[in-house]
Amino acid sequence: MAHPMVVTKSSKSVSSISEAGSETVLGTYSTQELYRELLTRFNEDPDRDGLLQTPSRVEKSMAFLTKGYTQNATQILRGAMFDVDYDEMVIVKDVEMFSLCEHHMLPFFGRVHVAYIPNGKVIGLSKIPRLIEVFARRLQVQERLTRQVADAIQEAIEPRGVGVVIEARHMCMMMRGVEKQQSTTVTSAMVGCFREQQTRSEFLSLVRQPSGNSL
Ligand SMILES: [Zn+2]
Repeated sequence: MAHPMVVTKSSKSVSSISEAGSETVLGTYSTQELYRELLTRFNEDPDRDGLLQTPSRVEKSMAFLTKGYTQNATQILRGAMFDVDYDEMVIVKDVEMFSLCEHHMLPFFGRVHVAYIPNGKVIGLSKIPRLIEVFARRLQVQERLTRQVADAIQEAIEPRGVGVVIEARHMCMMMRGVEKQQSTTVTSAMVGCFREQQTRSEFLSLVRQPSGNSL
């Protein structure tokens, strides 16, 4: 059965949208109208009580979960970089991370560990979690997220090196597909001196030390 898009006064059905074959036609519908149409396609009744406000809630929720597209790492780090003599490893461990996988638009979440060895400049510690948010609040793959965090720090303060490790669990693996419920995906990005065995090992062993948090 074809479900017309009852949300507009027009009699355009979804099939007529695809016949018109144009994103410009789809673009005339509001986000909420499109979510409403999706509910219909899941064989749901978008007019039942529990679902009436769902398109509006999903719109707000998705706007939050993808707000990273409107944020800029350089801007966030600006004014939070300080000159120091310190030249030992700086580590920020166990930063909570929530993102959406770009293949299924399902959450993946876990912990991020960031380390760098300064070369005259450090970043205010509270900015590291914010920097991670900029890239996590987008559609992502874990590998790219890891790399982007490392590259942003490298560009901002040009340290001697940066290491980023992300341990995450993917709902697209846990809820569907292979249904591997306990598996954790670990990715790392090493820049500069973190490519050297000794620095890399020091970082990884500090990350592995239990800190009381569990995923
Ligand atoms: Zn996925």
